[in-house]
Amino acid sequence: MILLNDFKRQWEDQRESLQTAFETVGSSGWYILGSELRGFEEALARYWEMQYCVGVSSGLDAIELGLRILGCKAGDYVLTTPVSAYATTLAIIKLGAVPVFVDTDRYGLLDLDRCAHTLEQRPEISFLLPVHLYGNALNLDKLSALRARFGCRIVEDCAQSIGARFEGRNTGTVGGLAATSFYPTKNLGAMGDGGAILTNSSEHDARARVLRDYGQEGKYRHGENGYNSRLDELQAALLRRALLPALPGWTARRRHIAARYLSEICHPWVRGLGPPPGSDSCWHLFPVLVPPHKKSLFMSYLRNNEVSSGEHYPTPIPSQRALQGVAHLILDGCETANEICRSEVSLPIHPYLTEAEVSHVIEVVNAWGD
Ligand SMILES: *Cc1c(COP(=O)(O)O)cnc(C)c1O
Repeated sequence: MILLNDFKRQWEDQRESLQTAFETVGSSGWYILGSELRGFEEALARYWEMQYCVGVSSGLDAIELGLRILGCKAGDYVLTTPVSAYATTLAIIKLGAVPVFVDTDRYGLLDLDRCAHTLEQRPEISFLLPVHLYGNALNLDKLSALRARFGCRIVEDCAQSIGARFEGRNTGTVGGLAATSFYPTKNLGAMGDGGAILTNSSEHDARARVLRDYGQEGKYRHGENGYNSRLDELQAALLRRALLPALPGWTARRRHIAARYLSEICHPWVRGLGPPPGSDSCWHLFPVLVPPHKKSLFMSYLRNNEVSSGEHYPTPIPSQRALQGVAHLILDGCETANEICRSEVSLPIHPYLTEAEVSHVIEVVNAWGD
């Protein structure tokens, strides 16, 4: 079976450097907020070409803390996308703020032209939480224009976009803050949960450090109520010493596989979803669209031919039951989003796929329906 993610192959490949990282932390006798975390934060900031990085417990926490650092509080409106991991919206709800949904563009990304229209009509919306979905970069020129024109405060959800660029610039660099995740399936996945905030503001950096540690400003001094959301030394050491150094090679490998899929998959019922113009994607996923009534048939056909596939995401966030009874706004029919949710299937694109396996995926897809 060709898997969506192959963690066993990753372990075989990285066993030595991961074990060395474990040994480093064990022998240091220091498990929380130590030099491994500092070292990892500095290395990730350098990789991302941002000034500051603060490790936290998850991508969800990174978004929630990020919004709170920009001043988001209960009752505030946050414009966001109907197609993402539920965590994007959950971060808004946890603050007591109100998610506001508008439709996506045809690539499944938050439609920034609709956002401009909405922000014009509704000046009460002051926060924006866009997602660089599937590893595709949103148009950063449009995003910074929104920020300049409406003064909206932006947290960029970069959980899927580490390494992605728009016309040479990294995602996460035009908002006030970027949030990312080290959930194992992400392009930079830890061996457990983790996340980070990236920013060019020293104030935001300092505030994130206080908030992730109960709101502790100095030893036993609490000026506000924060979180227990620290990235532990062990995950930081694994990321710093083994996983982050491998990321550029993995991203190159994902791009190579995507290029093969884009040029070699050819089937009247299977359409590539992206990349959008200007996006130098990091290919977190390789999404395709199939006719909605054929989607489950396609997925079982793939499975019967030893190819795993996924759905990102089968249900638009505004249709989730958890949203009932929670304040939220849906400003249009979200028709493009609904159609993408009904049609999207993700093909395997992890960096440990062999060329033969990539060829197998392509042959199986192209032979569908024969
Ligand atoms: C994974 C993901 C999150 C949440 O990250 P966790 O580390 O699982 O909390 C948020 N947004 C997007 C787009 C994601 O893919």
